[in-house]
Amino acid sequence: MQFVHSLKPRIEVTLAMKWTVIGYWGAYPEKGEATTAYLLEDQGFRLLIDCGSGALAQLQKYAAITDIDALILSHYHHDHIADVGPLQYARDIAKYLGGSAKPLPIYAHEMEPDKFKALDYNDATHAVSYKIGEPIEIGPFRLDFIRTVHPAPCAAMRITNGKRTIAYTADTSYIPELVPLSKEADLLVAECSLYKDQDGAPMGHMNSLDVGRLAKEAGVREVLLTHLPHYGRHEDLVNETATVFEGKISLAKSGWTWEAAE
Ligand SMILES: [Zn+2]
Ligand SMILES: [Zn+2]
Repeated sequence: MQFVHSLKPRIEVTLAMKWTVIGYWGAYPEKGEATTAYLLEDQGFRLLIDCGSGALAQLQKYAAITDIDALILSHYHHDHIADVGPLQYARDIAKYLGGSAKPLPIYAHEMEPDKFKALDYNDATHAVSYKIGEPIEIGPFRLDFIRTVHPAPCAAMRITNGKRTIAYTADTSYIPELVPLSKEADLLVAECSLYKDQDGAPMGHMNSLDVGRLAKEAGVREVLLTHLPHYGRHEDLVNETATVFEGKISLAKSGWTWEAAE
């Protein structure tokens, strides 16, 4: 791990590709925690991925709100966007104080046009469209998207910096299209909302065996189980996934990090 320290001690520039869990709960946050949000860094660029309930409070443990270079949203469910409004206020206040002149780009799909338009706010944040099947570049990252199967239109994404690749399922039931999206990823960040005996398909979510199957079929190096349920023993999710997938399996926790090896 390499850091370059500037005059402001809280600003640390991450040079290697690094994934940090800001929030990992499905639906609502447990006490003092957050629903879905991740920080992806590389070469000093900071991309926030989803921005759920409680995310802003957690994010500031790892980066200042004004240090975020871009936000991307997988879909418009509350547990992925609840803190977008406060983020817009925070960037607006920063603009007023002169600390952050550039609007924050928020990348999202336009399948729900009113929600997409609401991402434009007062020159503090700026809505930028992405489309399924059309790769885009954000900072040092290239992203590819597929549409998942979920009650709201939702995009899973494959993110690479040219050397390392992370696949993020967002919210989805198991679909075969997730396999090429995740193919040989260094890290698969997989929603695991359900235990093995619960059928995720009717709800648009995956259970632990679905995740194991996806990780195995895609031949990923390791998997992070996230978007976790509020009941049962999370360790069981790991054990159930491990009956199908033989690679490394981790459980999401606040502040959990993955970093590309040098
Ligand atoms: Zn969700
Ligand atoms: Zn959802």
